[in-house]
Amino acid sequence: MGIQMAYEIECSVCGKSAKNLLNYKCPSCGNPLNFEVRMDFEKARIKNSNYSLWRYAYYFPYVSEADIVTLGEGWTPLVKFSDSTFLKLENLNPTGSFKDRGSTILISALHKMVKKANGYISEDSSGNAGASVAAYAARAELKAEIYVPETVSGPKFSQIQFYGAKVVKVSGDRSMVADAAQRTEDKKFYVGHILHPLFRDGIKTLAYEIVEQRNLQPPHCVYVPVSAGTLLLGMIDGFSHLFNSGIIRSMPTIVACQTSQVSPLYHRFKNLSYTPPTTIDSVADALISVNPPLLDLMTKELRRAKGETAIVEENEIINAFKELAKRGFHVEPSSAVAYAALKKQIAEGTVSKKDEIVVVLTGSGLKTALKPEEIRRNQNNRRLEPLS
Ligand SMILES: [Zn+2]
Repeated sequence: MGIQMAYEIECSVCGKSAKNLLNYKCPSCGNPLNFEVRMDFEKARIKNSNYSLWRYAYYFPYVSEADIVTLGEGWTPLVKFSDSTFLKLENLNPTGSFKDRGSTILISALHKMVKKANGYISEDSSGNAGASVAAYAARAELKAEIYVPETVSGPKFSQIQFYGAKVVKVSGDRSMVADAAQRTEDKKFYVGHILHPLFRDGIKTLAYEIVEQRNLQPPHCVYVPVSAGTLLLGMIDGFSHLFNSGIIRSMPTIVACQTSQVSPLYHRFKNLSYTPPTTIDSVADALISVNPPLLDLMTKELRRAKGETAIVEENEIINAFKELAKRGFHVEPSSAVAYAALKKQIAEGTVSKKDEIVVVLTGSGLKTALKPEEIRRNQNNRRLEPLS
């Protein structure tokens, strides 16, 4: 037999392995790929003098040190919010969201290959991921095309443009934007964050950090907002890696939080039928994946990890958003969804106030197009352009 690889990229459906790091879906059946790390997590491998997520570089064996493209992402603060609740401030990453964890890994792994082919990368997102990939492409001096819906506007879209990415506007729904970004063109390399297994692999560092910052004690529960599923799947992978390596003795309960409008995972997980709304007007404008391509994988993994799901209403999101800001944490409304779900579960008695909780605050409040007077005026009758 050959040498045991330190990792494997396998199809989540047919099980075939993908050898090429540029593959974003199974080369034989087209289904999502899964990244599988084949080595135990060891504390001694952490680079303690590195205060970014690259302190865990050992667990990204497909990136050589000379190729790392970094903006100083990761190692974000874990701040005590109340007796037993801690906030993980992912809004403090270089582009203002957790997506930088995926982008630094993805771009570091691929930029040389793309440049060698004299190529450019493409991605579809008008939101946090688009801004993040554009920033890391700029840092790597790599050409990037970000495909966005025609109706795009707002601070995130400005951010994408400031980083110098070429913007391609596509009319039609969100899936048509993705199709256009994936369409084969000479020299184009699609690196879409939703499907690409390397992007998701970077997210696992969030679990490593939470455990390391808590002296290797896992919390009881971790609350995360869920849309396309990259955050959820990356977190499950990270905690599973630590659990399987004997670093933590129990898995935290991961609570996947969605809005009542956009809640395909919640419904699938609880075996309920789901009819997505025709228009989405939630303030949580980053959570708009009504039919996420990774839904099957998310359901399977969340069940395997013995996680939970929760949904919250618009007024609960707005109240959570306001409360966080009034206590000094100005995050985007989509991030407040996770805190709203925690508040709801405490009120319902599903979680105990004594349980050690981590809430992941995914994105910066500076990215929201919301105005304070809008929130005050009428919480239930307002409309926003959906962003993705
Ligand atoms: Zn396959």
